[in-house]
Amino acid sequence: MTENLDIESDNQAFPKQSQQEPGLQSEMSPIPNDGFKEYIGSGRLKNQKAIITGGDSGIGRSVALAYAREGADIVLNYLPEEESDAKEVKKLVESLGQKIKLVSGDLKDESFSISLIEQAVQFFGEPTVLVLVAGKQQAQTDIRNLSTKQMIDTYATNVFSLVWLVKAAIPYLKNGSSIITTNSIQADSPSSFLVDYAGTKAAIKNMTKSLAKQLAPKGIRVNSVSPGPIWTPLQIVGGQLPDNIPSFGQDTLIGRAGQPAELAGAYVFLASKDASYITGESINVNGGKK
Ligand code: NAD
Ligand code: MG
Repeated sequence: MTENLDIESDNQAFPKQSQQEPGLQSEMSPIPNDGFKEYIGSGRLKNQKAIITGGDSGIGRSVALAYAREGADIVLNYLPEEESDAKEVKKLVESLGQKIKLVSGDLKDESFSISLIEQAVQFFGEPTVLVLVAGKQQAQTDIRNLSTKQMIDTYATNVFSLVWLVKAAIPYLKNGSSIITTNSIQADSPSSFLVDYAGTKAAIKNMTKSLAKQLAPKGIRVNSVSPGPIWTPLQIVGGQLPDNIPSFGQDTLIGRAGQPAELAGAYVFLASKDASYITGESINVNGGKK
């Protein structure tokens, strides 16, 4: 449960800014709200063991902090350039008395993806939830500028790694465990400048449903979260067109971008016993944007 989140209700413009991919949350202005101060845990994920990708910043970070507040231990994946953001998460999680292991590495690499699962099992035994949040998004207004490298990197990060991680995790996932993927409003309403990215998110949403069917007999639930415009590093490292940054998120019904903290509850819910009869679903957290 998130209480008294400090969010401006009026439509304040974000300052124009850019960083190199993958970017650091600590250098953003304003720094995204990860909900650490406001989230109140009540043991909903007690004894759970979560592997979280993209957990250093943005949505993944707020998920990691809320999971820790709910009693879960965590293995956190991120890219080596993001070590400083990841170390902040480690400190915060440990301050709550939960265990956390940082495992940096590139999910585009199949052997690393497999080793992430193996390292997690060595650290805390069998995971109970696999939370896939890592993602790559680069805007290109003209398909003639969409390079084969960008296309391959976007699909490898967002789609191929999902398959590699799930394949490696299945032998360890017991009856009652779950997998949570991250798609996007782009899966259903693609922007003109996100041809490759939006395609990966549609794939993830679809694969969530086929995996739910395949894994239900093993007692593994598979669900997804579909964020709308959320203030995170992804947007200011080239994910969004620079001119769109100031008014980012103002085209939603709620009239502002979401903060990462506002996503944590959906991921907690899907991993918890409250969602024991939910599989193959996607939860929209998008300010009412269509
Ligand atoms: P973010 O930049 O904080 O998180 C993305 C993370 O992906 C990075 O921190 C990085 O650790 C990880 N990552 C990227 N490439 C990787 C690689 N090759 N190997 C390992 N890790 C890699 O931004 P975010 O917005 O919190 O993104 C989290 C997820 O939310 C992504 O899947 C994104 O597509 C999705 N999403 C975001 C928005 C939004 O508006 N921010 C909207 C819809 C969906
Ligand atoms: Mg990051």
